[in-house]
Amino acid sequence: MDSVNSFDPALLSFPDCDFLLAHAGEAPAVALIGLPPQVNRVPITQWISKFYELEELQRVGRGTWVGVEKVKECIKTYLDVRAKWKQDEAKGAPRNPSLYSFDSRGNAHFQAPGSDSGRVRTYFDDKGNRIPFAINLVDSGYGGQWKPEWIRPVKAEAKDEKDGGTDSTEMVKEPADKNAIECGVKGCGHTETYNSASRSSYGAARGRMSKHMRKAKFEPEVHREYHSMEFGS
Ligand SMILES: [Zn+2]
Repeated sequence: MDSVNSFDPALLSFPDCDFLLAHAGEAPAVALIGLPPQVNRVPITQWISKFYELEELQRVGRGTWVGVEKVKECIKTYLDVRAKWKQDEAKGAPRNPSLYSFDSRGNAHFQAPGSDSGRVRTYFDDKGNRIPFAINLVDSGYGGQWKPEWIRPVKAEAKDEKDGGTDSTEMVKEPADKNAIECGVKGCGHTETYNSASRSSYGAARGRMSKHMRKAKFEPEVHREYHSMEFGS
């Protein structure tokens, strides 16, 4: 546990989350007395001890950490998002939507590239970007400023009006009238076709597009940049 730096509320049960929301930051000797029966003793003992230890270390000047309030904020976000998803599910949304990728028509594709793999890890902001639920407890030392030197800011290219008129850059274009996705790198035009009746076919096309973007010889840096924005990593 000492080396664990990532706290992910999505790995905990709801009662465990509720318990940490109420007791994170308390001394283990206080917090762990009379644990409610629905709370999992092992992970909760570890996290209560970990948060207290980090707080104590910071108090004596040995390092800084994100703090109890940040942990509670992170848990609260997780619980709020899961409650919202449950409401949405009752209205016909897919269960746990971050396990899906959504195409430009709003169709959900279970476990397609870009979606959370295997379990819930992220949620969507209001622009549809995926945000991890997990937070780092201790700063990595890079101060969040370090970026690999091959990452350059992307210039949003003004698009032709016939192209729909939006001015946001799309990494992968999904023309509504074709069963194909198209590489968004200017001048490339690489397409991957799929069968619109099959979501695994769409997922496979996205997989091939991901490979194309990683391997392209034309404008390789732009391709890799687009790849990391569309598919992550
Ligand atoms: Zn391309």
